[in-house]
Amino acid sequence: METIEKLTHYPMVIGDQLVSSGNEDLVDPATGEVFATVALGTTEEVDRAVTIAREAQVAWGKLSYGERSLALLKFADALEAKSEELARLESQNTGKPLKLSLGGDIPFAIDNLRYFASAVRRQEGTAAGEYLGGYTSMVRREPIGVVGAITPWNYPFMMAIWKLGPALAAGNAVVIKPAPNTPLTTIELAKVALESGLPAGLINVVTGGAEVGEAICTHPGIRMVSFTGSTRTGKRIAELASPLVKRVTLELGGKAPFIVFADADIEAAARGAVPAAYMNTGQDCTAATRIYVQNEVFEQFLDRFVELTKKVRVGNPFDDATDIGPLVSETQRLKVKGCVDEARQQGIRVATGGEVPDGPGFFYTPTILVDAPQSANCVQEEIFGPVIVVNRFSDEAEALQLANDIPYGLAGSVWTLNVQRALRMSAAMECGTVWVNDHLPIASEMPHGGFKQSGIGKDMSHYALEEYTIVKHVIMDISGDQKKAWHSVVLDD
Ligand code: NAD
Repeated sequence: METIEKLTHYPMVIGDQLVSSGNEDLVDPATGEVFATVALGTTEEVDRAVTIAREAQVAWGKLSYGERSLALLKFADALEAKSEELARLESQNTGKPLKLSLGGDIPFAIDNLRYFASAVRRQEGTAAGEYLGGYTSMVRREPIGVVGAITPWNYPFMMAIWKLGPALAAGNAVVIKPAPNTPLTTIELAKVALESGLPAGLINVVTGGAEVGEAICTHPGIRMVSFTGSTRTGKRIAELASPLVKRVTLELGGKAPFIVFADADIEAAARGAVPAAYMNTGQDCTAATRIYVQNEVFEQFLDRFVELTKKVRVGNPFDDATDIGPLVSETQRLKVKGCVDEARQQGIRVATGGEVPDGPGFFYTPTILVDAPQSANCVQEEIFGPVIVVNRFSDEAEALQLANDIPYGLAGSVWTLNVQRALRMSAAMECGTVWVNDHLPIASEMPHGGFKQSGIGKDMSHYALEEYTIVKHVIMDISGDQKKAWHSVVLDD
């Protein structure tokens, strides 16, 4: 008799309850097979989660910074103890190589959480003085209340922590909605939080898609929406949040330039371009997507970059010999393939790649497009796959003009050994992060967030902690005078 293997079902986490209502299949991007099922939330679950979050937040917000810090450090330790399990789950759910989730995403996110647990102890108001004669003023940073968090599918665990870390450290509670196709590590981290002793109701996970997201944006009990995802959805979120004047932070799309001057170390630039373009199968908001190379070194750079690109091993995420895994879904692969097909039709040269390999899973080969017009979709729009354009420029002014000539402004890099040029370019590039002679490294202590249509607000660093607080001015009479001179404007006795 044939045995039917029962798929693991992942429930939502609301308060300390695991809620199993609804049922959605989850597909393994490396095989195209359903491997688990997940609960599907509705506006009712959002409502319940907000009520529970609010109750939990009142007590949590009153704890001292040190008490909150300790609880978050214990949470971080508990996550670390489960790193391997979390990394495996993340790789199965997203298709990213285990060497990236276990060696990168999970430990980095835990470091981020520890940073916020520590940074909150350093939080202080900026004023304590007599700015007005007879009064002492102070500035307090208050928690916002219940924060709604909505995350994308490319770095599910890390994006969840980037929101939970500062929100919880600042004294808020969170209702979080992961992307519908990659909810598993967010659900698991909420369970680990409960096991670690973090009070129930501080992290509530409601699964689902746009309907649940919109319920979060419009719920009157949610005072702030922290969103990471596409620019298109970000605009919708800002629209939904505005009638209640909710705070929003929007971490949106990117189309990072990678500018190589003739005076750069060309071998270093060609090597650096490989992870910059293909890490996480190019599904990275800061991925290098437009390489601009100065005419004199164009062929030298391109030849070496093509040679190195051909060495990138596409395969099973759990194989040590894999450098990049599949795209996250068939929909995403069709989008990527569509962009490359369109470029071909426009006569843009494909130097390598542009193929859908035989076999199961949503794989796509690393692809280099060459000499695309600046106005082409492949130069202007996010592709979010292992596809990069290599174009040329003549001088610094043209490089800068091309780099800034897009609606996005998340990140970019400049490759040069000339210090003055590096400083000039990094000041003039319109983006939230500029790398000099590298592309991608980030640190918990440093901010991440966009210019222009790449968003509003910052993740990581003390700037993120500030996003999740409200500044309050408290002003106290220190004179004890019953009759104050200024009262005479309406009480002139
Ligand atoms: P997406 O905008 O399609 O979805 C993001 C989240 O929004 C998902 O949870 C989705 O269910 C939810 N959502 C969709 N419609 C909604 C609506 N109407 N109301 C409320 N929520 C809604 O983005 P994606 O395809 O999941 O992720 C890829 C995008 O994320 C890329 O554009 C990438 O650049 C961006 N991203 C940005 C950063 C950053 O830090 N700036 C980081 C990672 C990813």
